[in-house]
Amino acid sequence: MIKMPDGKLFIGGEWETGTGEEIVSIFPADGSINCSLYGASKDDGLRAIKLAKSAQSQPSWRSLKPHERARYLYAIADGIEANIDRISQIQTRDTGKTLRETAILASSASGTFRYFGALLESSDDLLTAQRNDSLTMSVHEPLGLVTAITPWNSPIASDAQKVAPALAAGNAVLLKPSSWSPLVSLELARIVESAGLPKGIFSVLPGSGHEIGGLLVDHPDISKVTFTGSTKTGRSLAIKAAKKLMPISLELGGKSPVIVFKDSDIDIAIAGVMFGIFSSTGQSCIAGSRLFVQRDIYNEFVERLVKATKKLKVGSPYNLDTQVSTMIHPQHRDSVAAYVDLARNEGANILCGGESPSGAEYKKGAYYLPTIITEVDNSAQICREEVFGPVLVVMPFDDEADVIEQANENEYGLACGIWTNDFPKAWRVGRAINAGTVWVNTYKQFSISTPFGGEKNSGIGREKGRNGIRAFMSQKSLYFDLTGNSHPWAEI
Ligand code: NAD
Repeated sequence: MIKMPDGKLFIGGEWETGTGEEIVSIFPADGSINCSLYGASKDDGLRAIKLAKSAQSQPSWRSLKPHERARYLYAIADGIEANIDRISQIQTRDTGKTLRETAILASSASGTFRYFGALLESSDDLLTAQRNDSLTMSVHEPLGLVTAITPWNSPIASDAQKVAPALAAGNAVLLKPSSWSPLVSLELARIVESAGLPKGIFSVLPGSGHEIGGLLVDHPDISKVTFTGSTKTGRSLAIKAAKKLMPISLELGGKSPVIVFKDSDIDIAIAGVMFGIFSSTGQSCIAGSRLFVQRDIYNEFVERLVKATKKLKVGSPYNLDTQVSTMIHPQHRDSVAAYVDLARNEGANILCGGESPSGAEYKKGAYYLPTIITEVDNSAQICREEVFGPVLVVMPFDDEADVIEQANENEYGLACGIWTNDFPKAWRVGRAINAGTVWVNTYKQFSISTPFGGEKNSGIGREKGRNGIRAFMSQKSLYFDLTGNSHPWAEI
């Protein structure tokens, strides 16, 4: 097994023991301890902010030409790529995600830094249409200090999605990962350090959301917060940001509908539905957790779906054939189980799963079986709220209008899947659904060049894509007089 990070924090370019609360990172497949560390205290945070402010204002960072700053992003991308094995092992230990999946996430993080490096080099500022005797232009400048707050489910990917564009924009970044998964972010700090960024430009400060997270939002020197996490936390941060008139972007929860029309290719749809909800053990913001199946094929589809789900391989994240691994933490597994119990008590039909697997290999882990629930109404709590686990509710629908209404009848609006062979119908339904991303005959596909974000309670703002860097910049317009004359209003 690889050596775990030693638990030191990366504060203003130095490795230090934190002076905040103790954090214990566990391997959720068996409860063993990966590493015990001390998170960042308010004092640690204040020092990181001071050093970030000083470093960010130096020409050695702020005034770099785009192609010069891009070199740092490419070096980080190379560093991640050279360490994919180590990063994926750390992330698997920290989160219980399968090694297969964490290797993909690490590789995508490398691609994210490379993409934003290339984008930085190739983005133009604007010479605006001339309407008077001035040369008019609009340029983009760094905001200053950016706080990035990330959740535990895909740390290396969500860290990269925020850190890469924020650094590319010329900011200093203070990254606060979740206390359940601090190790990958600290490993990212090692790579950033090796890439030679000026000291202070990047800090990693795991610790209490309330204490260190609160400071990194409230402090007057923070110019922007980019947050991924629950809607509850996101809303509380948005209120704080509004008080400061500070921009904030929010990638929040979801309860995404997946729609299977009777004209779809059923085998392909079943596999896609299963991947959409049960991969990552359902701990995914975009998990397709509400399935709507057209009534004509409902019984047959559900029967085949349950049969295939029962065959999924549940096991250790280290086994290459594991499809459904442990959850992040026993506490989270219990909260998922409580949702299923609630549905059960309200008369729902649990067609498979609904409990932890039995057997010695699962005993110490936070496992929960892939679960399929029917006989619930779209307004039931299990259909309205994000469970964030391997739990799928299935409901029938009659026609296009019916399913659009049911799919949209939810406070979230993150993603949607549509399975049909009728392209115009996919287009109509896709456009009518309130969601930031719609997949047609596929699900959970990502591309760094394609914007991502939510509607309604799923968030504000978009990450990725060509505007990704601009979201971390402020726009400045300049007018250069072309006449050389004094103004006629005050002729001297
Ligand atoms: P969470 O909201 O509990 O925590 C997220 C982060 O916020 C953590 O780092 C936490 O320490 C920090 N935090 C908590 N309270 C804070 C406060 N008062 N001030 C500042 N920071 C604070 O979420 P979680 O349980 O870690 O993650 C799961 C959630 O994340 C789910 O709702 C999931 O849908 C969402 N998520 C969304 C996306 C997306 O892109 N939309 C992606 C992944 C996860």
